[in-house]
Amino acid sequence: MLSYKSVNRSCKNTVFFITLFLCLLVFAPAQAESPMEKAKKVKDQIASMRGDLSNAFETHEQGVYKLKKITNRLYTNTEKLKEANIELKKNQNLLGDRINNMYRYGNASILDIIFAARSFNEMLVNVNFIVRISKQDAVIIEKVEKLRKEVKSTQKKLVVDQKYQKNLVITLKEKREYIQNKLAKAKKMLVGLEKEIEELRKPKSLPAPIMNQITPPSTTPDPVNPSGGGKYAFPVGAPYSFGNTWGAPRGGGRRGHKGTDIMASGGTPAYAVISGNVSNTQGGNSGLWQILNGDDGNVYWYMHQSGFAASGRVSTGQVIGYVGNTGNASGGPAHVHFELHPGGGGAVNPYFFLNSIQ
Ligand SMILES: [Zn+2]
Repeated sequence: MLSYKSVNRSCKNTVFFITLFLCLLVFAPAQAESPMEKAKKVKDQIASMRGDLSNAFETHEQGVYKLKKITNRLYTNTEKLKEANIELKKNQNLLGDRINNMYRYGNASILDIIFAARSFNEMLVNVNFIVRISKQDAVIIEKVEKLRKEVKSTQKKLVVDQKYQKNLVITLKEKREYIQNKLAKAKKMLVGLEKEIEELRKPKSLPAPIMNQITPPSTTPDPVNPSGGGKYAFPVGAPYSFGNTWGAPRGGGRRGHKGTDIMASGGTPAYAVISGNVSNTQGGNSGLWQILNGDDGNVYWYMHQSGFAASGRVSTGQVIGYVGNTGNASGGPAHVHFELHPGGGGAVNPYFFLNSIQ
C-alpha cells in the first residue's frame, strides 16, 4: 500500500523540480542571443514538455486525492463490517437459545401441546406461548437475515474498493515515474543549452586564415601587388599611418571605436585586402561606405571614402575606392575607417591584422 508519507515526499520532490525547471526557463532564454533558430526550437520543446508536465502533475494530484477518499471509505466499511459481525453473532446466539428451548419440548408440535393441556385455560396459555415464541423467532430470523445481507454487500464493496485502490496505486507510480523521467530529460536539455549558450557568449576567435597572418609574415608582401608572397593586400596605398585605437571613445564617449583609422591624404587609392565581392553604399556617419565580402569568409568595411572605383567581383589588391573624409569625418583629416568582421560576425580589432600585412 502507498503510504501518505511517501506520497507527500514525492509531491514535495515534484514541486521542487518543477520550481527549479521554471527558474531555469526564466533565466535560460535571457542568455540565448545567437542562433535564433536553435533557441526557438529548444524553446518550443521546453514549452511542449511543460504542458506534458503540468498534465501529469495534475493527474498525480487527483490520484492522491482519490486515494485518500478510498482509504477513508475502506476504514469506515471495515468498522461497519466489524459491528455487523458482532450483531450477527449476538442474534445467532439468541436464535440458538430459542431453538434449544423448542427442542426441550421434545420436538412437540402445536397440536401435541394443545392436547396435553389439562384445561382450556392451560391450552390457551400454551397456544399463546407458542405464538409468542414463533413471533420472537421470526423477528430474530429476519434480523439475522438482514445482517447477513448487509455484511455480504459490505464485503463485496470492500473487495471492489481494494481492487480500485490497487490499480490507483499502480497508476500513481507510473505517473510519478513519467514526471521524474520528463524532469530529468528537461534538466539535461537545459544543462546542454546553458553550455551551448556559454560557448556562444565566448568572444569569437579569428578564423584560421587571419590567425595565420597575425604571426609576423616571413616576407613582406607588396601591398599593391600581393603576388609577391602574401595572401592579403594592405587596404590603403602608401604613405599612410595608423595606431591601435580599438575601443577609444567616439561620438562624445557614447560608443567605443570599432575599427582602425588608416590616415592617408584624400584621394589615395584603397585596395581590396583579398579577392571577393564589393558592395557600395552611402549616407549617415559612414559617408561613402564599401563592404568587401572576402573569399576568405571574412567581411571588411571601408568608411569615409571620397569615391568608389569598383563594385561586384574584385581581385586581391585591386583599387576599389579612394580615401576621403565623408560622413561624420567631414571637416577632419582624410582616413579609411577599416573594420574586420571574421566570418561576417561581430567586429574584432583589425590593428594586428593590418600590422601583419604591411
Ligand atoms: Zn574610425
